[in-house]
Amino acid sequence: MDTSRSSRLFAEAQGYIPGGVNSPVRSFRSVGGVPLFIQRGQGSHIWDADGNEFTDYVGSWGPLILGHANKEVVTALRAAIENGLTFGAPTEGEVELARMITEAFPSVDMVRLVSSGTEATMSAIRAARAFTGRDKIVKFAGCYHGHTDGLLVEAGSGGATYSIPNSAGVPASYAQETLVADYNDVSSVVRLFEAHPGNIAAVILEPVAGNMGVVLPGDGFLAGLRELTSSHGALLIFDEVITGFRVAYGGAQTLYGITPDLTCLGKIIGGGLPVGAYCGRKDVMEVVAPLGPMYQAGTLSGNPLAVTAGIATLKALAKPGVYDGLEATASRLTQGLSLAAKTAEVPLTINRVGSLMTAFFADGPVEGWYDVTKTNRDRYSAFFHHMLEGGVYLAPSAFEAAFVSTAHSREDIDRTVAVAESAFGKL
Ligand SMILES: *Cc1c(COP(=O)(O)O)cnc(C)c1O
Repeated sequence: MDTSRSSRLFAEAQGYIPGGVNSPVRSFRSVGGVPLFIQRGQGSHIWDADGNEFTDYVGSWGPLILGHANKEVVTALRAAIENGLTFGAPTEGEVELARMITEAFPSVDMVRLVSSGTEATMSAIRAARAFTGRDKIVKFAGCYHGHTDGLLVEAGSGGATYSIPNSAGVPASYAQETLVADYNDVSSVVRLFEAHPGNIAAVILEPVAGNMGVVLPGDGFLAGLRELTSSHGALLIFDEVITGFRVAYGGAQTLYGITPDLTCLGKIIGGGLPVGAYCGRKDVMEVVAPLGPMYQAGTLSGNPLAVTAGIATLKALAKPGVYDGLEATASRLTQGLSLAAKTAEVPLTINRVGSLMTAFFADGPVEGWYDVTKTNRDRYSAFFHHMLEGGVYLAPSAFEAAFVSTAHSREDIDRTVAVAESAFGKL
């Protein structure tokens, strides 16, 4: 595969942009090699700067559930673009998108639009603190909620009572307000509530984890957190930036039947443009300015183009049969991969909810961050490069999800499985 143009661009990029990329995982550091510069996308396929074609399972990390350059989205955007790009004043589209989100998520009464998932979680936490008058929050090791200071914290080996920032530049005093629990372990959260009585404002989590690779909530985990937070007067925040409109139209909360107090959205609701939202119970959302004392604002919040792309995307997803189609495509893929791995005697554990999945190189179940760290990363890197050579673009990290879109065809899936068969054979 000729990647000379991508290599040249990457060399130049490193002169102007830290690491040559505007988001670290794009750099291919964890799998090695030179990141491909993408020039064009159509449906389930992308083309790089050297003209190589790939079936894409990254989908811009989740937003592109309809595939690249979806006709309905592009048509809506073309019309919107002629009318001006931004006003810093209310527009009708914002009302429509907020209404669609409220109708999709039973837990949501009110929505505030922002410009990224990071802003959504940052603001939801501020709202939870404003509402409860408490400072501490609980997050789970392996869950990612964007790059705000207080959320860039993971469990150190010191255990659940210490909070060590996993980025330089985060004040330890600030990180201490973040308590870290173990995913799928309600008792780790019970201990934190016991250790910090009356001080925990909220528990935030990905109801299906997507940022340590896909990890499903075990039986009783989400219900246990719902009960625990309610009994301690803390809020439950579902970060559905990935899972919202992905695992079901109404997100993981609809799929698992759990009602959070606040929900964070992003990715799909912008249809490929920058959007986020935090939303939830009316009495909590009423703390947000100008109604309440919690300040949060944005010059481009509710941007007309982003909202237009979001509405067009949600309308397409609301049509009957869309999620059944995604399920059928994704299950064909995982069944094919499982069989191919088995034949090649490569241990593989696939976690999947609908069109969101990760294939881990692991012997046993992967149910939390500890299990994830035990998976074979070197094997993933080798597999990743074999797949890329075969024209399949996967996430350049073992700890990420793969996304199937409505644009992925049976032929895409069968070809991907054939490439994987050969890749497994070479491991
Ligand atoms: C992507 C993501 C975010 C951050 O969203 P950005 O738009 O990248 O800021 C937050 N939470 C989850 C679960 C995500 O997957």
